[in-house]
Amino acid sequence: MIAVAGCVAQAEGKEIIRREAAVRVVVGPQNIHRISELVARAKTGQAVVDTEFAVEDKFEQLAKPKPEITRARGISAFVTVQEGCDKFCTFCVVPYTRGNEVSRSVERILAETETLVSQGVKEVTLIGQNVNAYHGRGLDGRDWTLPKLVARLSEIPELLRIRYMTSHPRDMDDELIEAHRDFEKLMPFLHLPVQSGSDRILEQMNRKHTRADYLRIIERVRNVRPDTAFSSDFIVGFPGETDRDFEDTLALAREVGYAQCYTFKYSPRPGTPATDMSEQIPEAVKTERLYRLQELIETQQRAFNLSCVGRELDVLFEKPGRNEGQIVGRSPYLQPVPVIAPISMIGSVARVRINELRTYSLIGELVANAPASPTVNSAPEVNAFA
Ligand code: SF4
Repeated sequence: MIAVAGCVAQAEGKEIIRREAAVRVVVGPQNIHRISELVARAKTGQAVVDTEFAVEDKFEQLAKPKPEITRARGISAFVTVQEGCDKFCTFCVVPYTRGNEVSRSVERILAETETLVSQGVKEVTLIGQNVNAYHGRGLDGRDWTLPKLVARLSEIPELLRIRYMTSHPRDMDDELIEAHRDFEKLMPFLHLPVQSGSDRILEQMNRKHTRADYLRIIERVRNVRPDTAFSSDFIVGFPGETDRDFEDTLALAREVGYAQCYTFKYSPRPGTPATDMSEQIPEAVKTERLYRLQELIETQQRAFNLSCVGRELDVLFEKPGRNEGQIVGRSPYLQPVPVIAPISMIGSVARVRINELRTYSLIGELVANAPASPTVNSAPEVNAFA
């Protein structure tokens, strides 16, 4: 049986079944907890489309994963803290398919995280379409912001690392920036999408921030936590994007010096304002711009990874490695780091001296008797490739 689930399913609904009769279930992201029921209905012969927004809280309806399943998934887990978005970027379908921004309560997030931790999880990534707009009901009955949530989660002793994604630059306020200084468990790797380096295009995208605003945030985060590395999302070939606009994007990427990025060609999403904008960019132009941006980002990524060689990084060990006696962990920047070490170290953080860069990983060795502490990582040279 073929089922199509997610934002596109939500937006397209019956159209998916009209175009492909083999699809038996179409379900939007808000109704995913009903999937067993939908599959059962589809088995009776009729295709099922469920794209109404459910009134019930899907997180309360979804079956909790069994402890053995959580353990099998490893020591890192995602925890959804908010969903939906009120920003209405003109290229994006999320506000229409996921609805308005809704935050889960601190109590529920805390309960879920504590359960995960009791089952062996050591790192959580707090996720949401616009995660730094988080404003869930706090333990004192008032709305809590993301940094306050991070502060509370930091108090869980066995939880070693906290990350969050995806953020909007408009919601990177002082409190959140200072959290990067104040909470060691918050990893110094921030995914902060900018989409374009041109103010003209940012305005057309309804991003509600300028290029200068974005660069100021990067600078402020670096000021409070100098070892922070950044990743971003970029869209090239947005309607009306000129060569000059695209050069502004390249210049912004050079100025920031990213550790990693996700790059996309603009593609119209039905029902979004940008779909109807004139001056759609020819496919060949989009492709050429995408390749140029990707070339730059790959150079930056390699430079960043190379800048880690010779440094000592804290590594959270996740699983056995491919070779005898080896285990593999992740650096604060999510690079895989294999080292020779006892399997009993899986689930712990230890200091590793990085000796070599391979295509997909950093090769290192344990630093004897060095206590792990994220604060003593030195700042990688991420800005040196203009
Ligand atoms: S791109 Fe992000 S901020 Fe903009 S509307 Fe979509 S989810 Fe919201």
